[in-house]
Parts: sequence; C-alpha cells; structure tokens
Amino acid sequence: MVNRLPCRAVVFDFDGTLADSMPFLQRIGVEMMMKHFAVSKEDATNRYVTTTGLPYEHQIKINFPDDSRNDAAIEEFEQLKIERIFEQELFPDAINVVESLKEMGLDIFVSSSTFQSTIEEYFERREIRTLFKHILGYRPGFEKGVHHFNYIHDQFNISYYDMVFVGDSLKDFERTRGICDFIALVGLFSEQDFRDAGHGDYIVHSLSEILNIVTYQG
Ligand SMILES: [Mg+2]
Repeated sequence: MVNRLPCRAVVFDFDGTLADSMPFLQRIGVEMMMKHFAVSKEDATNRYVTTTGLPYEHQIKINFPDDSRNDAAIEEFEQLKIERIFEQELFPDAINVVESLKEMGLDIFVSSSTFQSTIEEYFERREIRTLFKHILGYRPGFEKGVHHFNYIHDQFNISYYDMVFVGDSLKDFERTRGICDFIALVGLFSEQDFRDAGHGDYIVHSLSEILNIVTYQG
C-alpha cells in the first residue's frame, strides 16, 4: 500500500517525462559532442547522460569548460532539435493522466529545460495548451528547478509543500531537494540510479501510476 501524497499542483518535466523525446535528444546531443569535440561515442554518451535534465548549453559548458567550440556545438544542437522536436510523441498515457489530475482539482504545470517558445508551440500544435495552468520553459537565468518553483509559488500562491515535481533525470531530483516532493519516472535512469542518488520516496514506471499516488489537498 502506497502512502498518498497530498498536493495542489503537479509540475511535469517535459523531455522524457511527458514526451518520449529522450532517444532523439540523446542521439543528437551525443552526435554534437563527437563532431565538435572529437570524443568517442562512449565518452560522449557518458557526458550526455550524467548531465541530462540541464539545458544543452549547460551540458556542453560543464563538460567542456571555456572551450572555443562550445557556441558552434550548442547552436547546431538547437537547430537540429527545433527541426525534429515537434515529431516527438507524448507518452501514450500522458494526456489521460494530465486530464485525470485536473479532474481531481489539481493545477498542472510544465517545467522544462527546453526554450519557452519551443515548448509552448509543441503543445499548441497538439491543441492541448489549455490543459496546463502554466508552461515554464528555459531562458538564461530562469531554469527548471528553484526558479520555476519560485515562480509557481509567487504567481499562483501555491506553497512548496503543495507542489510535486515529476521528472526522469537525476538532475530533476537534485533540483527538488529541500524544496518540494519528487516523483521519479524510470526510463533513462533506473530505480536503483535514483535510490543511489538518495531519492527515498516515490518512483513510478509509467505516468499512470501517479494517479495512485497524489491526492488533492484542498
Ligand atoms: Mg527530462
């Protein structure tokens, strides 16, 4: 029997959580590292995976600090991403889960490391923009994590105790620490990966399992 998690807002990561976009993003992310920095596929994959969940700009700058090739790699990645991101599908249960949570009375947010305009267009093209109370994308200085959680707190008057973040990366978990609850979605990372990182709470293997965890805190 799972303990229920009372909350008022569910905040979803986008890539790899609502959208099945990680195989695509990892492929082009690794390709750009191999092409621009002449690293092996194995090395590039490790560099990509250990920093995933962050904007690609940060993934590059963490892995290749002060490298003159950074701008070209970041620019080419973002170009490849924008050309194909709209083809990436949502997970099959994503819309049903979001609708069901809304029916419970919860506010649904998206918090993503993808640029604001890109992520909004993604949902607009699928005509599901209105399912979400607000969509928070990346811009420099306004990132998934404390910036986005503070914005939801301030603009929508939702306390941190009433927020739960659902994400698929270890960085997502790290960025909720000390702020709000976290539900880990297994995919890119295993249950053991999250446990090893110190996540002691909720882990799901599909979005639908969230419906058995969260309850509306009136
Ligand atoms: Mg993700």
